[in-house]
Amino acid sequence: MATTKVAGVNVSTDHFIDGKRVESKRKFPNCSPIDGKHLADMSAGGPDEIDAAVAAARRAYPKWAALGPEGRHPILKRFAQAILDHGKEIAAVETEDNGSLLIGNSARMVPRAALNIQFFADRALKLNDEKIDSPEVVNHVRFDPAGVAALITPWNGPFMLTTWKVGPCLAAGDTAVVKPPEWAPLTCSMMADLATEAGIPPGVLNIVHGIGEEAGAALAAHPDIDRLSFTGSTDTARHIGASTARSLTPVAFELGGKSPFIVCADADLDAAAKTAAGQYFNAGQVCLAGTRILAEAKIADEFLEKFRAAASHMAVGDPREKTTQIGPLITPEHYKRVEGFVDRALKAGVKPLWGGHRHKAGELYFEPTLMDGATQDMEIVQKEVFGPVLTWQTWRDEDELMKLANGTDYGLAAVIFSKNEEHAMRLARSVVAGTVWVNCFFVRELAAPFGGSRNSGIGREGGNWSFDFYCDVKNIAALKGSFA
Ligand code: NAD
Repeated sequence: MATTKVAGVNVSTDHFIDGKRVESKRKFPNCSPIDGKHLADMSAGGPDEIDAAVAAARRAYPKWAALGPEGRHPILKRFAQAILDHGKEIAAVETEDNGSLLIGNSARMVPRAALNIQFFADRALKLNDEKIDSPEVVNHVRFDPAGVAALITPWNGPFMLTTWKVGPCLAAGDTAVVKPPEWAPLTCSMMADLATEAGIPPGVLNIVHGIGEEAGAALAAHPDIDRLSFTGSTDTARHIGASTARSLTPVAFELGGKSPFIVCADADLDAAAKTAAGQYFNAGQVCLAGTRILAEAKIADEFLEKFRAAASHMAVGDPREKTTQIGPLITPEHYKRVEGFVDRALKAGVKPLWGGHRHKAGELYFEPTLMDGATQDMEIVQKEVFGPVLTWQTWRDEDELMKLANGTDYGLAAVIFSKNEEHAMRLARSVVAGTVWVNCFFVRELAAPFGGSRNSGIGREGGNWSFDFYCDVKNIAALKGSFA
């Protein structure tokens, strides 16, 4: 087995197919965004490795499905526990791999990942309880396993976001082929060892590393997958959708966003300012971030000063340090992309209220930035930057607000600050978004639906919505009085 040592942890750089590590001759390099250090040469999979992984998942499927939710539950419980037991290592490796804050990975990402497994294992126990009575028949609603699922995940929270798919997928009785992100593949590789430790049978969870256009595209185009769940960019989803359209494979897409952050005159401006500064979390590499600050004109100046004060205190630097709040961007390529958005906006006459440059912390660190003066049609307002770059716009009435708030192709999330419940709820109903946070941000309940509207996604996951996707939902309508 080929391994690398990262943060003192031995991590396999191989695929995981049918319960065994498999090495490819071709490799792709993986470097840390913290300081550019070379971390690994990962096995680069393609159609052959994907074929082998899908075949292994197909072979493992009947037995895994036949275990039923009760039979799978103790195994998945052990899997969740293994994640917690190895939490320190997972958090440390993820920080080296994608530059996310160590403190956040330990305190939030790892527990959430374990909960993603435990919650859906628990929930599956109650799935087939529903009966719908009608005059002639009793409808027995069944959530049966669907088969082999392809799971493709992004680099901005690779471990947690992969468990968000693996949890309901395995709990539903499906088997999985995971294609981790090539820019941060290490913690997904560790997941395979935890699956083995928990006693997940060979072939139930397979992992094929590789470049998106090779391994990812081969998985999306594979004729023997029954479900495809993808989290990533809207552009990639269009490629994947073109493949799955041919096979009519059902898809769940969790995509990009350009979410409005609405501050009303009747808001708690201190709380709003603190939360607005939180949009720079993970160096802005968060799909859900409220990247367009929309402040009511009446309080715009007062709010801006509070926001400036909150943002100016944010510590940019090494994500391994406890005091750091904003770490690096993921790769030089992505840094250039973020910088390109800012440069083009500056050329178009948009001015930074703060930030706008490389941060002195290092090559891939960008200053928290707020851009003022952009019109709604400009790229900086319309496109997802995926960096610590927010825009500033003001509004005078609700008509104007809604034109701004709903004036992009996205609809992932929205944040609204108002102390007036009726007002806040009215705005929340009008905004186009899969999730609307009122006077808070990033609070995610696993039982609640999650997903994006418009170009931010297809479908909803969370609670039974996840099982709607990972299961074949069947209704057995049995005629009353027809049984001896
Ligand atoms: P990406 O689309 O570039 O890559 C995501 C995954 O898709 C990676 O594993 C990649 O290898 C794979 N991929 C790339 N090209 C492919 C192809 N042609 N066929 C199949 N697979 C392919 O996205 P990213 O840069 O890794 O992640 C950032 C994006 O993800 C942002 O747009 C962000 O908003 C989005 N995101 C959304 C959510 C959500 O829940 N809605 C969560 C996190 C990230």
